[in-house]
Amino acid sequence: MDVTIIKDQYFFSCMMCGECCTGKTDIYLNLYDLYKLCNYLKVDYTGDLFERGLVKPAIIENGSWIPRIQFRKKPFSFCPFLINNMDENFKLECYCRLHSYFKPLACRMAPVGRIIDCSAEETRYVLISPAAECPGMKSLDLCKIADLENELKHELEYDYRFFMILDAIINATEWTEKVTEKLYYFSTAGSFITILEKLENQYRASSVV
Ligand code: SF4
Ligand code: SF4
Repeated sequence: MDVTIIKDQYFFSCMMCGECCTGKTDIYLNLYDLYKLCNYLKVDYTGDLFERGLVKPAIIENGSWIPRIQFRKKPFSFCPFLINNMDENFKLECYCRLHSYFKPLACRMAPVGRIIDCSAEETRYVLISPAAECPGMKSLDLCKIADLENELKHELEYDYRFFMILDAIINATEWTEKVTEKLYYFSTAGSFITILEKLENQYRASSVV
């Protein structure tokens, strides 16, 4: 996949064509995304997302398992949260049921991705086309990383802390299905920050999994 490092700004505007919500797109989720999905579905246990087949763990480059939205397979591959609509000119418009608050961070940030270096505690932003034929990438609308950081301040922090937990687990042990279940199956009763702090204490402080 081609990626370009973004320093301060990039050009983009989403045309709502839905290409990135279909096909082979992988939408990985962090802990806060799981929490938000539960709030959207009005359930209070993240295990329900896995049991309903909406989310499935998938292995990523560093060897850890991360939750991923399970796309429907028929009549074609598409995100279960995608809604298609035809406008008055018979133009297909696509909407996300989760827009905007409940949307996963990866979708909210697109076409911007983050590379987190846990040991150096550094973050870099990269430009990744959300789909092979994303028309938004041809836009001349200027977007600024500072605006993105401002808008998503808390979510970016939660995401960073999630990757620090993953890093601690990977350094302490090998991933097993048991670890995946222990980390990603939690009650969403209460505030997210309390849940996050509890997981940090469990995994980062003690390095015991
Ligand atoms: S492919 Fe690009 S333009 Fe189309 S919905 Fe996704 S981000 Fe928007
Ligand atoms: S969560 Fe929304 S934006 Fe993300 S892939 Fe699904 S429909 Fe598209």
